[in-house]
Amino acid sequence: MGVPKQSGNRPSGLMSSKNQKPIEIRSSNIRAGKALADAVRTSLGPRGMDKMIQGPKGDVTITNDGATILEQMKVMHPSAKMLVNLSKAQDVEAGDGTTSVVVMAGSLLEAAEKLLKKGIHPTTISEAFQKAAVKSVEILTEMAVPVDLSDREKLMQAANTSLNSKVVSQHSSELSPIAVDAVLKVINPNQANNVDLNDIKVIKKLGGTVDDTELVEGLVLNEKASGNVKKVEKAKIGLIQFQVSPPKTDMDNQVIVSDYAAMDRVLREERAYILNIVKQIKKAGCNVLLIQKSILRDALSDLAVHFFDKMKIMVVKDIEREDIDYVCKTLGCRPIASLDHFTAENLVAADLVEEQMSGPSKFVKVTGIAHQGRTVSVIMRGSNKLVLEEADRSLHDALCVIRCLVKKKFLIAGGGAPETELYLKLTDYANTLIGADSYCFKAYAEALEVVPYTLAENAGLNPIATVTELRNRHALGETMSGINVRKGAITNILDENVVQPLLVSTSAINLASETVRSILKIDDIVNTVS
Ligand code: ADP
Ligand code: MG
Repeated sequence: MGVPKQSGNRPSGLMSSKNQKPIEIRSSNIRAGKALADAVRTSLGPRGMDKMIQGPKGDVTITNDGATILEQMKVMHPSAKMLVNLSKAQDVEAGDGTTSVVVMAGSLLEAAEKLLKKGIHPTTISEAFQKAAVKSVEILTEMAVPVDLSDREKLMQAANTSLNSKVVSQHSSELSPIAVDAVLKVINPNQANNVDLNDIKVIKKLGGTVDDTELVEGLVLNEKASGNVKKVEKAKIGLIQFQVSPPKTDMDNQVIVSDYAAMDRVLREERAYILNIVKQIKKAGCNVLLIQKSILRDALSDLAVHFFDKMKIMVVKDIEREDIDYVCKTLGCRPIASLDHFTAENLVAADLVEEQMSGPSKFVKVTGIAHQGRTVSVIMRGSNKLVLEEADRSLHDALCVIRCLVKKKFLIAGGGAPETELYLKLTDYANTLIGADSYCFKAYAEALEVVPYTLAENAGLNPIATVTELRNRHALGETMSGINVRKGAITNILDENVVQPLLVSTSAINLASETVRSILKIDDIVNTVS
């Protein structure tokens, strides 16, 4: 072999290898990103496949959710990690579209690779992609249709579209009304611009099937009642943050008890101490006591349980710290920090507090709360842990879809219709541009078609024929033509009620473009020591 060929007057030796490195790094980054996107591609759409993920301890997750798949994958390459974060970002921003966003990014990376091979500078590509993303959002916004939050039917269709591509899709008719009603209950539909999903408490319970999932207007506590009082009507509820057990010092000191008389005295003192607390609680008129979980010790001694039983007071202990806000908001109260403040005016009235069973586990339900805050609870059921976990993730996506519609009250068609429309409009626009920009816009437009292509492929349709027909239909002005996965044909996708929030699509476009642009701009990977 002779001297490597040099093109033009490019310097040789050190300089040449310096020029080569950014190219190699870039192409390695692009390859890693594409590989990751390919891994989730088969999960896209209602006919997408599910993934079984095995954890380090042999635990298994079955899911179809892009963010969940990627989160659990052991990803080493830094640019592949960026795509994992991209999916997470979409999850935070929109909650749905977590597979689409990664699939799009993979396709945009591929487009970028081709443009780089044509000799276009990475910065030029990056800037063109940015402009194309802005243009895409404009086009999507134009084709969106406004939705009214009082239009429950439309909201349910959007929730349905999201649920249809899930493992638990056969339960979408039960889950979508729950998602819609849950969100509508915690907001004021006339003025809301956002939803705090913390106001919707989802409690997972093994037993029954997903169809048994119910929306509860009231408070559901994921704990059982400690004593024998399992049901209280006309409840007066007190929520406390102090313990009903004998005080212990933090230090590990010992009390030496020398004889039986001394031991008796200690026990008597303990008894008197607890009895005093229980009596005061009773005196305030309380008949249901909720106790925050204590990290130091058991907040409720056996003796206390015994006394509470005698006084017909129901006790529920170990309420998690992170649940306290939700409990307070629901009951319209504040936690009582010390016995001195345990008075009648700090108690909350409710019609019924009752312990209920679900399969092997128990929970406590409070209904008919006097001044209930804007919160709801969902008791999620499932016959096994895998289904239950996936149903929970799917309901979360559906809730996010409705939240998207509260944030931005527009819907667009699904089934590849928006991406095809983007392809046509962006290509048209590219023809008005000159030079590299025009190339880049066209490549960007084609890259977005990965969504209809993959939807068709996963549905067992011929992807090329389907994408071509979609293009033709859209060129004829049928902006709502999309892939009807159920019929295996192209139809007006709005008539099929396959709709999704505008925000899911615009956020996916923005975030995917941003990530691809950052990957393009990297020309070196520097590893730090240790
Ligand atoms: P993501 O995690 O990105 O939300 P999904 O697996 O939920 O991935 O697939 C979303 C894609 O599937 C969207 O492009 C959406 O328009 C499409 N889709 C969902 N339901 C249907 C349907 N019934 N017919 C055609 N396309 C659908
Ligand atoms: Mg989805």
